[in-house]
Amino acid sequence: MPYLIAAGVLLVLVVLLVQHWYITLPIALIIGLALILPRVVRHIRMKRYFTSEIFLAHKSEIASVVAEHNEIANYVAEIREGGSFSLGSSSTGSQAYLASFQNTSSQGYRRDRNLADYAAPNVHNCSLQVVRNAAADPLKYVMKYFDVKATEETLADVELLGESVARLEDAVENLKHRESGITTSFDPPAFILKHYSDEFMRQAGVELSPVTVPYPEYAFEYVSAGGNSSQRTSVKLDTPVVDALIDALSQKIRFRKTAEGQRALMTASLRKFIKDRDGYTCRYCSISVAIEPHLLLEVDHIHPVSRGGLSAVDNLQTLCWRCNRTKSNKVPATDPLT
Ligand SMILES: [Zn+2]
Repeated sequence: MPYLIAAGVLLVLVVLLVQHWYITLPIALIIGLALILPRVVRHIRMKRYFTSEIFLAHKSEIASVVAEHNEIANYVAEIREGGSFSLGSSSTGSQAYLASFQNTSSQGYRRDRNLADYAAPNVHNCSLQVVRNAAADPLKYVMKYFDVKATEETLADVELLGESVARLEDAVENLKHRESGITTSFDPPAFILKHYSDEFMRQAGVELSPVTVPYPEYAFEYVSAGGNSSQRTSVKLDTPVVDALIDALSQKIRFRKTAEGQRALMTASLRKFIKDRDGYTCRYCSISVAIEPHLLLEVDHIHPVSRGGLSAVDNLQTLCWRCNRTKSNKVPATDPLT
C-alpha cells in the first residue's frame, strides 16, 4: 500500500514538472550545481594539498617510518597465510554432495526461504533444541559436534590456533597504531581525513592491507522442514574463546600427571607472563618497547613445537618481529602444517 501512494505522488510530481518545465528546469539546474560545486572545489583543494611542499617534505621526513610500516604489513600477510586458522569440522553434510535436492512443491508454496547449507563444514545442522543448548554451553557443544576431541594432539592444535590468532591480532593492532601515528605526524586538514583518508595513506606511501583476522567460527543451525524459520548459534574462536577451550580441553585430558603434562598452557596470560618476565625486550637484539614504543613483540618457542619443544616457561622467550621472522625462516618446520 505505501508503494502505491508513493508511486501516485511521484506520478503527479512528474506531470507537474513536465507541464511547467520553464520553471522547474532552471531550479533543477541550480540544485544540481549547488550539489556538485562543493565536491569539485574539495577535489581541487585535495590535489593541491597532496602536491604542496609541506606534504612532500613531511613525506620524505617519515619515509623510514612508512617503510617499516609496509614491512610489517607484509609480515601480517605472511602470518595470515602461514598461520593455522582452522579446527575440527561438522560431519553433517559430509556426504551431502552425493544427493540432489529438488523443491517439488506446487505453485504458491515457498519452501526455499530458509535452506540448510550442508556443504559448510563449519555449520552443524541440528534440531532447535541443540541450537539453544549450544547457546547455553558453547564450548561443550563445539567439542562434541565439531569433533574437537579431548586429546593432547587436539590441545596442541588449539594452542597453535590460539598462537596464530594472537600473533595476527597483535600485528594488526600494531599496524593500526602505526597508521594513526603516521596520520598524527602529518596532521592533514580535516577535510582530507574526512573525505580522502584512503587517498591520504596512498599518497603518503602507506600500503593499506585490509587485514582481518580469519577467526574460525562454528555455527549450530536449525532450519525447519517447511523452510519458514531458521535459528542459529555461532561461536567465534577469538583469543578469549580459544583460551577457554584450551582450559576446558586440558581439564578433560587431565594430562598434568604425566611428565609431558608438566608444561604450561599456551594462553594469552602465559604470553603476557613471558613478555613481562623479559621486560618487553627482544632476547636476540635487545630492542625494547622503552626504545621503540610501537615495537611488535612475539613469544617464541626456543625449541620449536614442531620438533618436540614444550610450552614450558623456560622454553619460551620474547622476540621482536624481525628476529622471530628471521628465526622462523632459518628453522623450517618439519611438519608442513605448522
Ligand atoms: Zn629482535
